[in-house]
Amino acid sequence: AAAVAMAEQVVADLRDKCETPAALLREVASEMAHEMDAGLEKEGGSRVKMLLSYVDKLPTGREEGLFYGLDLGGTNFRVLRVQLGGNEKHVVNCDSREVSIPPQLMSGSSSELFCFIASELAKFVTDEKYANKSNGKKRELGFTFSFPVKQRSVASGTLVKWTKAFSISDAVGKDVVAELQTAMEKQGLDMHVAALINDAVGTLAGARYHDKDVVAGVIFGTGTNAAYVEKANAIPKCEGELPNSGDMVINMEWGNFCSSHLPVTEYDQELDKESLNPGEQASISIYEKLMSGMYLGEIVRRVLLKISLHSSIFGNIDHTKLKTYFLLRTPHISAMHHDETPDLKIVAEILEENIEITGTSLETRKLVVEICDIVARRAARLAAAGLAGILKKLGRDCNAQDQRSVIAIDGGLFEHYTKFRECLEITLGELLGEEASKSVAVKHADDGSGIGAALIAASQSQCR
Ligand code: ADP
Ligand code: MG
Repeated sequence: AAAVAMAEQVVADLRDKCETPAALLREVASEMAHEMDAGLEKEGGSRVKMLLSYVDKLPTGREEGLFYGLDLGGTNFRVLRVQLGGNEKHVVNCDSREVSIPPQLMSGSSSELFCFIASELAKFVTDEKYANKSNGKKRELGFTFSFPVKQRSVASGTLVKWTKAFSISDAVGKDVVAELQTAMEKQGLDMHVAALINDAVGTLAGARYHDKDVVAGVIFGTGTNAAYVEKANAIPKCEGELPNSGDMVINMEWGNFCSSHLPVTEYDQELDKESLNPGEQASISIYEKLMSGMYLGEIVRRVLLKISLHSSIFGNIDHTKLKTYFLLRTPHISAMHHDETPDLKIVAEILEENIEITGTSLETRKLVVEICDIVARRAARLAAAGLAGILKKLGRDCNAQDQRSVIAIDGGLFEHYTKFRECLEITLGELLGEEASKSVAVKHADDGSGIGAALIAASQSQCR
């Protein structure tokens, strides 16, 4: 009984520290909007970098031809090809292949990684029945590369730093398009990289292609990020000539957002300290660490470890497993969180198979589910606050009858973690209020990021 009380105390503390009342979320939203202004004002004006993507026009639906996309995100990468039919016909055909990145390549050398990517791409291209359809023209490729990149044009960009599970030091500071182009040449692959974008920009482009009311693209996957369309003349730091279209897609890099209002616990602080990219001064990517798929399972693992070290509710277990970083992944906590069996059989199985905790009582399993709930709800509510911040910045957070705003969202966390998604949507409604909510829609942009890259390649190459 003492053990249970101890464990319950740990969970009660967690619940307290993870609380996200609406008033706190409104502060977070205001600060997000404020940081967006500061980041647009000048280079280095905010931790939220507000990078220019150099994408000044989004696909319209009139593009025509065969285009390729490459999507390198957290763990998988995808190669795809789309056949665009032009006016009204949209995507006539699309096929893709997903390849997982061998883990050793994530911390090897830049050339090894890009050679692997180029060779997979070459395989995909050579077995195509479309070979004759490119009509002798060079193949055009859009490259979705979802890591912070400093761009100077739409088809070049130097890697600022790695995030998620990647750390290939010799790639930092290099132009990733040039790296890819070199690797493709070595493979004898005749292809031109027409655009370098990230998944948030790709999601925005992919969704805008079908719906002109889409104002932002947001990712909740292994990492998290957002992109939206800004008026070029509202970007003080935008040097040189303004784009003809008058628009500029901004890649927010919002994972690095920080606010004193963020409910950060001891578990998050320790995770930050021990992560691959620990804070140089203050925490780096703390917003991302509170709400992306890479970390939610890891936060839960840390809470379970604390409980296990301070009480015996898991029995007399060997802690080797439970002490292993990233042993519990977000899909595990999602599965436990959604367990609807009366005796929480799935929770029992996951604890047993992954951390060798056996013979748990129903009471203990319920406690584990509650931990998942606390961590996932905090994530979803903070995510909603970020969306509210973007809408606020765009002046679309108040009631506007004739103006519809759509936020396109992609990423495995949003797609597969139902309770996360539901909580996010409910919380956004709570923050906007009933009236304003009517003109705002959140929609799942399935595979926007890959298709988006090909679509941007199409819209870029048609004006070259
Ligand atoms: P990436 O961000 O790497 O491009 P995805 O958008 O496909 O990839 O997101 C993958 C992430 O989504 C995983 O790292 C994981 O955190 C999360 N995820 C995948 N499946 C599930 C699931 N069933 N439940 C919860 N989260 C999931
Ligand atoms: Mg992705």
